[in-house]
Amino acid sequence: MILAKTVEQVRRFRAKLGKKSLGFVPTMGDLHEGHLSLIRRSRKENDATAVSIFVNPTQFNDAKDFKLYRRDNVNDIAALKEEKVDLLFLPSVNEMYPKEFQTEVEVKDLTRGLCGPFRPGHFKGVTTVVAMLFNIVRPDRAYFGMKDFQQLKVIERMVKDLHIPVKIVPCPTMRETSEVALSSRNRRLSELDHARAIQFAKALKRVKEQIRPGRAIDAAKITKEFLSRSGLRKMDVDYLEIIDPETLTPVKRAGKKTRVTAAVWIGETRLIDNR
Ligand code: AMP
Repeated sequence: MILAKTVEQVRRFRAKLGKKSLGFVPTMGDLHEGHLSLIRRSRKENDATAVSIFVNPTQFNDAKDFKLYRRDNVNDIAALKEEKVDLLFLPSVNEMYPKEFQTEVEVKDLTRGLCGPFRPGHFKGVTTVVAMLFNIVRPDRAYFGMKDFQQLKVIERMVKDLHIPVKIVPCPTMRETSEVALSSRNRRLSELDHARAIQFAKALKRVKEQIRPGRAIDAAKITKEFLSRSGLRKMDVDYLEIIDPETLTPVKRAGKKTRVTAAVWIGETRLIDNR
């Protein structure tokens, strides 16, 4: 595996690949089976696979969350070697954002709802860094988890709007047997909080099971039942929404592709999930 710390090194790797296809998995590290599922899919579908690990400061609206974000390059590098990844791009903050940096990429409507209002500036940070990474790595395909459903849709929009020549491949959410969606943030949970995360995951699954294509949605009733099953207080729930997967806005009647999506606080940790 090539370990590239500079843009220049990635460019050289890309140039050498020539016409061979390149798959790309951008991450913030602290890798788990969710990340690895994206990497394995990329390895199957491309001649070569590149992964980036960059804890992007501009997408953290909360300085404490940025500081607490787990960084474990030693274990991550070992895992990526094991997966036979061809290139790891591990840039410094300065490599990505030199002093004179002053450009932002923003997707408008799709970032107005769901996590948008709760994490001001977050999606602008994501789209800006992902656009940069696409320009640096120039992959044929890029792999994103459906676990971060709004992020996936925002990136799909950006790629279409800016005519970035990459195919976005959505990948299913990997879960513990307990139904909890794998996330780097889970590792911050105490045993008790993990038990609460299980209750949240099960309550969300129950909401999914209640929704049938063609049926009207009683959001108030669903929210009430979700609160009681999850054991969460109203103030711990940033949102629970039943949305159209393309516009990300609430629907009154369920369709086949309707998504149930939620963001909740378990102690000091914010978890998101969708079904
Ligand atoms: P992150 O390191 O959290 O920025 O995630 C990097 C990529 O892995 C994103 O495309 C995420 O959606 C994806 N991802 C994170 N957790 C999971 C999961 N449990 N299952 C599938 N993909 C995931």
